[in-house]
Amino acid sequence: MPLDQSVSIIRETISRNQKNSPLAAPSVTLLAASKGQSPEAIEQMLAAGVCDFGENRVQEAEGKWPDLQKRFPNITLHLIGPLQTNKVKQALALFDVIQTIDRPKLAEALSAELKVLSKKSPQNSALKTQCFFIQVNIGKEPQKAGVMPEDADALVDYCIKDLHLPVVGLMCVPPNDALPAPYFALLREMAHRNGLKELSMGMSEDYETAVRMGSSCVRLGRILFGQDSRKV
Ligand SMILES: *Cc1c(COP(=O)(O)O)cnc(C)c1O
Repeated sequence: MPLDQSVSIIRETISRNQKNSPLAAPSVTLLAASKGQSPEAIEQMLAAGVCDFGENRVQEAEGKWPDLQKRFPNITLHLIGPLQTNKVKQALALFDVIQTIDRPKLAEALSAELKVLSKKSPQNSALKTQCFFIQVNIGKEPQKAGVMPEDADALVDYCIKDLHLPVVGLMCVPPNDALPAPYFALLREMAHRNGLKELSMGMSEDYETAVRMGSSCVRLGRILFGQDSRKV
């Protein structure tokens, strides 16, 4: 099936699930998770009308995206993988959205770098990032990234009130051996009580459930690009 057709089927599936649920968000961003994808595959996705993309590694993204960003200025690039404090400067220059704040140290490093950048010219090309999400380890899995659910409220508060970071939402990857709905509900509840509007949740396997539970950003890899399309 041509790519623009499969993208429009996914968009229709998203809106059908929105219409069928009172919890659904008014608008849902379709983000293409493009880790391991070539610039050519990404250009095809752009031609099919997708303009939000998510990368997992700063280094891989630095190789792929600056050229595409120049040629397609309306791209919104999200970081959806772990960020190390020594890559904060590069990340702020490359990503429009950073979805993976998961600890106070990282939040502090982002805030310190933002202070440095704000002293330079306001039209600074070294700063691209507009907003942040906090990643929550919603299933408390040892191998997964994210702040523990019981520490999430404090981290949100610290980022917004003390560090003045523009945090707009929460992000999670639920356990893959359990039904996802209760985890999405938990993240939704957590965002609600912290006054956060955005919820980045839902991947190829569970995006329909995520949309019904209020997701405002589904991150789709395999279902968009094809099962075995990753190069690395
Ligand atoms: C790879 C990835 C996705 C997309 O996963 P698929 O199952 O291929 O849709 C979404 N979110 C994160 C954080 C990822 O690393």
